[in-house]
Amino acid sequence: MSKPDALTELGEMLGDRFSRSKSDLDLHGRNETYFPLLPPDAVAYPESTEEVSQIVRICAAHGVPVIGWGRGTSLEGHALALKGGISVDFSRMNRVLKVHPEDMDVVVQPGLTREELNRELRATGLFFPVDPGANASLGGMASTRASGTTAVRYGTMRENVLGLEVVLADGRVIRTGTRARKSAAGYDLTGLFVGAEGTLGLITELTLKLHGQPEAISAAVCAFDEIGPAVDTVIQTIQLGIPMARIEFVDAATAAAFNSYAGAEMPEKPHLMIEFHGSASAVAEQAESFGQIVADNGGDGFSWSSRPEDRTALWTMRHNAYYACLGLRPGATALVTDMCVPISRLAEAVEETRADIARSSIPGPILGHVGDGNFHAILLVEPGNEAELAEAKALSHRMVERALRLGGTVTGEHGIGMGKLGYMEEEHGQAWEVMGEIKRALDPSALMNPGKMVPGN
Ligand SMILES: Cc1cc2nc3c(=O)[nH]c(=O)nc-3n(C[C@H](O)[C@H](O)[C@H](O)COP(=O)(O)OP(=O)(O)OC[C@H]3O[C@@H](n4cnc5c(N)ncnc54)[C@H](O)[C@@H]3O)c2cc1C
Repeated sequence: MSKPDALTELGEMLGDRFSRSKSDLDLHGRNETYFPLLPPDAVAYPESTEEVSQIVRICAAHGVPVIGWGRGTSLEGHALALKGGISVDFSRMNRVLKVHPEDMDVVVQPGLTREELNRELRATGLFFPVDPGANASLGGMASTRASGTTAVRYGTMRENVLGLEVVLADGRVIRTGTRARKSAAGYDLTGLFVGAEGTLGLITELTLKLHGQPEAISAAVCAFDEIGPAVDTVIQTIQLGIPMARIEFVDAATAAAFNSYAGAEMPEKPHLMIEFHGSASAVAEQAESFGQIVADNGGDGFSWSSRPEDRTALWTMRHNAYYACLGLRPGATALVTDMCVPISRLAEAVEETRADIARSSIPGPILGHVGDGNFHAILLVEPGNEAELAEAKALSHRMVERALRLGGTVTGEHGIGMGKLGYMEEEHGQAWEVMGEIKRALDPSALMNPGKMVPGN
């Protein structure tokens, strides 16, 4: 039993779909944020569930770690090879296997991205709504329990995954869930693997819920002098039952970033960006009702449009927000925070965070999916500047403490990875020990994405 033997066996099995080139290792050892390069020993590119099972069996026999790799867009160093091992890159398992339009579901391989899926679905009148901004893989999105701009209307990956095929740590292949919309049959194993970040097994197939493409869409934008009235507008819109498909908050610093990155002409003030889905008359009515709430809260510059080009411009700008914010400090890297609190505590959470960042030396634009009580500060630090990174981590730590104090969670959507591991006990108490027991039952040798998620892994 040895790592060199595992590498030899895998090389023989996969041929040129097994790589040890430096560029490939570096590509699979990097991440989008401030974590250091942590490359695996090799990268495998399977094309079928059988191959994934065989890779895992070989690794299990030789005690070699296995780390799933979707698109590498996760923000907490999730897919970094902390203990070396084999990065299993799913990019060659990227097919739509079966669309069931009548049941509004689809079966896909894990390497397919959400944008690829929606391109394939275009002619069916259906779409997959979960939208984390980045063009992530569906396997990676399930593994991080991703959400994003549309969760307020359509839910997160938790609500949109009906079933999975999973290769366990010993190479066995299991299926969880069915295509039925509900089931009372036993433990919810689908829910267990959604959000497990590859620490319990590798997802090789997903059955996903689809939704009808809305007949009409309207999008609106408005500005406020202060954060409080912007958040009050969100709360009142929810309380009045106006069905928003997206509602995004950006602060004055983010508006400034949009101006310089995308040539937007936004006043440098807090803004809300919102979208409604429905019939043509319903979305017009919803936009007007929302406009009234904006006016009641002292907002200005309210305008709405149902023209596709206006919407596309608005959401393209929002999707590029991370890169626009990075542009505020050329050459910077980012520590991206991810607070989520009950909506009634959102205004104080954002305001306390804004004041805390203002007292620091770190630039930190704030933006978020405020309909879910979820927001991010993008803390911009100079690469290699340890003092700045420490200051950003201290800000992030205080955000986490604030989230827990206000009844929220340490991560609304980005997940645990390496960055949030230290907060699991504080959020979950003894339940974190139970997570460790589940891990030991399913992966007794701790080979699936080791060093992540559970105590002592
Ligand atoms: C600009 C930007 C904006 C973002 N905005 C959002 C947002 O709004 N909401 C949000 O939720 N996220 C957001 N993210 C984070 C990121 O897009 C999500 O975490 C996404 O789900 C990661 O998918 P991925 O395919 O890149 O997975 P990866 O980063 O490759 O992997 C993520 C984790 O899943 C595991 N994994 C991957 N594939 C499998 C598999 N088949 N089986 C088992 N485990 C697997 C990996 O080991 C790792 O632990 C953003 C990222 C960027 C760069």
